[in-house]
Amino acid sequence: MKIRVLGCHGAKLSNHRTCGFLINGSVLLDAGTICSSLTLSEQGKIRYVLISHIHADHIKDLTFLSENLIEEKRRRPVVIISLGKILAGLQRNLFNNQIWPDFTKLPNSRNPVFRLKAIREGQTIKIDGLEVKAFRVNHIIPCAGFLIREKNSSILYSGDTYRTDKLWKAAAKEPHLKAAMIETSFPNALEDLAVRSKHLTPNLLVQEFSKIGKPRLPLYVYHLKPLYLKRIGHELKQLKVENLTVLKDGQIFKV
Ligand SMILES: [Zn+2]
Ligand SMILES: [Zn+2]
Repeated sequence: MKIRVLGCHGAKLSNHRTCGFLINGSVLLDAGTICSSLTLSEQGKIRYVLISHIHADHIKDLTFLSENLIEEKRRRPVVIISLGKILAGLQRNLFNNQIWPDFTKLPNSRNPVFRLKAIREGQTIKIDGLEVKAFRVNHIIPCAGFLIREKNSSILYSGDTYRTDKLWKAAAKEPHLKAAMIETSFPNALEDLAVRSKHLTPNLLVQEFSKIGKPRLPLYVYHLKPLYLKRIGHELKQLKVENLTVLKDGQIFKV
């Protein structure tokens, strides 16, 4: 599985981009950054978008993607996938003809730019050679983490979360787990803010990661708030987690 980091931050400051990851060229994992990182032809190859939740840093580029795809020859609807509650929120809060036109019905309902596909928690769906499962995590609005498998490798994506359990349990049982992508948003000194906004700090990250029970598993940390990059980076180094990498915008990695 090839993962291209279009953006991996929890906010926007100068050149730092918000969360969007492209898997094997056709499946997007969150949609905070698309259009500023991909050419028009690369955007045209996107078939599926997995959405963790509807905070702006995870969905904002769905707006501009819809405009960019509308003239695409041989266009088929891009399928946006998540738990039902999350997709209902997307429809109600973004594609509502107020914040943005309803591109689930445009340019026409027969062949719209986007189609929404709700999945149940724990259900396996197959998309472009990947098997995907979603699990609810603990954020201030409904949010999902994902387990994504291609043949004999799986990766876990945490979504935005504070302390949680179901996702880690599923990851602990996953026989082909090769890496975990887990959010960390604030430095340890701002744990109060992390708790109130339901995010992780480096200290909370290490506690949550240990629940997977695979201490040597490659751990890719993302969703750092750009204001605190240096402090969080320094605190992550102190953790002594063996295979920890802080993701960077533009990076490509394979699992
Ligand atoms: Zn976020
Ligand atoms: Zn969020």
